[in-house]
Amino acid sequence: MSAQKELLTVRNIGIMAHIDAGKTTTTERILYYTGRSYKMGEVHDGNAVMDWMEQEQERGITITAAATTCLWKDHKINIIDTPGHVDFTVEVERSLRVLDGVIAVFCAVGGVEPQSETVWRQADHYAIPRLAFVNKMDRVGANHKRCLRMMTDRLGATPLPVQIPVGKEAGFAGVIDLVEGKMLTFSEQTLGQEVVEQAIPEDYEEAFTAARMNLLEKLADFDEGIMEKYLDEKPVSVDEIHRALRKATLELKVVPVLCGSAFKNKGIQPLLDAVVRYLPSPADIPTIDGVDRNGEPVQRATGVQEKFCGLIFKLMSDLFVENLAFIRVYAGVLKVGDKVFNPIKKKQEKISKLMKLHANKREEVKEIRAGDIGAIVGLKFSTTGDTLCGNGDYVVLERMEFPEPVIGVA
Ligand code: GDP
Repeated sequence: MSAQKELLTVRNIGIMAHIDAGKTTTTERILYYTGRSYKMGEVHDGNAVMDWMEQEQERGITITAAATTCLWKDHKINIIDTPGHVDFTVEVERSLRVLDGVIAVFCAVGGVEPQSETVWRQADHYAIPRLAFVNKMDRVGANHKRCLRMMTDRLGATPLPVQIPVGKEAGFAGVIDLVEGKMLTFSEQTLGQEVVEQAIPEDYEEAFTAARMNLLEKLADFDEGIMEKYLDEKPVSVDEIHRALRKATLELKVVPVLCGSAFKNKGIQPLLDAVVRYLPSPADIPTIDGVDRNGEPVQRATGVQEKFCGLIFKLMSDLFVENLAFIRVYAGVLKVGDKVFNPIKKKQEKISKLMKLHANKREEVKEIRAGDIGAIVGLKFSTTGDTLCGNGDYVVLERMEFPEPVIGVA
């Protein structure tokens, strides 16, 4: 695969939510479903998800890693930990700086709560494309429509459901995929691993038709091709809808909304499909801002062929590996054996070991390429917020600009 094509298969995402909305559970399930190829055969045990997570934690790899890489349908998804609490605003800012897209998790009962509002505004500030996942559809009081209304009223967003729920509370059975026009259910025997496609139930046909019409009408506002077909009453293909949705999402015109119940293992795989379909790849971000040695603003082109530069966004150490520096490489390739320059500390660093953290293993790698995220082991001088660039080069990537202070948060 060419380097540029490879970039198209990377997603750097964060998951954000008000406390208790289900961020941890959603992340766990994502890691479980993406890691299942390592764990096939153990899923019939009723507690397999938790057992699996406990095993991971015993090995010292938890979902709280600053960045976890998982694989989904030929794509590499780096999940960057985004602190949810407002106290960590600076950390939130820093993680938002290195991710390209976000899943915002809302509770179907609580809807848009104060902390989701805060982080949403920060994501607005950095113009980060988003998907929304309305979680806890199984809970008493779950109200999908209310959650959509709150997204409009409180967040000023244009939520665009790409699914509608079938049943609610204890009767929440699955979702209807509005693009493909089929119902998806998630087999309880296999902890939701098996996604079962079936025909739309008769009593949901009307709701499906209305919701699909809404989807096409909204997309027609942004996409001429769909507009023409819509007016001529011609069929619009699944690919056309996906393409228009991706474009409108990247341009921040809409927020595709999915729903499910992370706890009940319902709705996670379609969410992963949506990450791949609608959220940006690093190739969608052609330049990165920084300053040069004279303090003048510069824009560096991103991409594998460019001169290396990257931003350290988190330091971590644990029982097993000391001193991990998580880095997003924006341009070029960072290789083991390289000598690189830290312009803020005015020091040279030698790269002796590079790693990627997966949900269920650590992997030593030889290089980290533009667009990707990984960890450097054993840096001597560098810290969170520092830039690394090639020896002889000079660029400082992080200009921390903070949005206006957040008011009225509980
Ligand atoms: P976080 O604070 O956003 O990370 O939320 P957690 O993932 O820790 O979830 C908070 C609580 O909600 C936990 O007790 C979860 O078991 C529960 N929970 C998470 N997802 C669901 C769901 O889909 N349905 C129900 N009923 N409970 C859920």
